[in-house]
Amino acid sequence: MTIVSEHDIEELRFSLKNRLGEALLLTSQEDMLRYCRDWHGDVTSSAVAVIRPRSTQEVSDTVRACAELGLAIIPQGGNTGLVLGGIPDAPKHQVVLSLERMNAIRTIDSDDFSAVVEAGCILSEFKDAVQDKGMFFPLSLGAQGSCRIGGNVSTNAGGINVLRYGMTRELVLGLEVVLPDGTIWNGLSTLRKDNRGIDLKQLFIGAEGTLGIITAVAVKLY
Ligand SMILES: Cc1cc2nc3c(=O)[nH]c(=O)nc-3n(C[C@H](O)[C@H](O)[C@H](O)COP(=O)(O)OP(=O)(O)OC[C@H]3O[C@@H](n4cnc5c(N)ncnc54)[C@H](O)[C@@H]3O)c2cc1C
Repeated sequence: MTIVSEHDIEELRFSLKNRLGEALLLTSQEDMLRYCRDWHGDVTSSAVAVIRPRSTQEVSDTVRACAELGLAIIPQGGNTGLVLGGIPDAPKHQVVLSLERMNAIRTIDSDDFSAVVEAGCILSEFKDAVQDKGMFFPLSLGAQGSCRIGGNVSTNAGGINVLRYGMTRELVLGLEVVLPDGTIWNGLSTLRKDNRGIDLKQLFIGAEGTLGIITAVAVKLY
């Protein structure tokens, strides 16, 4: 479907609301503004909608609905990326999928020195929770009070501890990802010695959302 008019966009919004429910969607320009503007405030875009799922299943439902409607998806974490990768560049054909409501820490395991955290958790909040349990998560960067774990993994962020602990890639043990057809891929293993087959998670680390939407991450702790 070629989308040309405001009427077409309203129809798409209506279809999205029917499929996903009103509670997941923001559609007014005012509500969408902060998701469609880059961190510096230099570039302001727009979108058909901003969708804010609360669970992996809702991310999957969103991906399926957007595929049916021919809408491209821009995943967004904290929107600190600074290179416009997390905001729309074709507003009439794209939705922003914000992970901000998926911010739970699922587990922190002090026997295994590992944790499983949802993609929308703010990095500094996760680090504080880990510290409260007497452990340390080394990823440290200027944006840590705003950026979200899924964004860190998607950009394979480095930060100030990279020489000692490695890039984000080195800290990831497993991922949960919603693939472009809506399938949920559960690769949330915390196993250190994991030599089973192809290490699929590596494809999604640093992929900036091009291959799937990261919904949860298993990480190493120290
Ligand atoms: C390539 C790159 C490397 C960076 N490295 C560093 C660094 O080493 N040190 C530093 O201080 N800052 C770095 N930054 C800046 C910024 O602090 C990081 O980008 C931060 O990790 C991004 O997190 P965020 O939640 O704000 O992601 P956002 O800015 O929201 O998104 C960044 C990119 O990841 C995608 N994305 C976000 N969440 C998901 C998800 N759940 N699933 C799939 N895709 C998603 C977005 O579509 C976008 O393309 C880097 C930025 C980029 C673009």
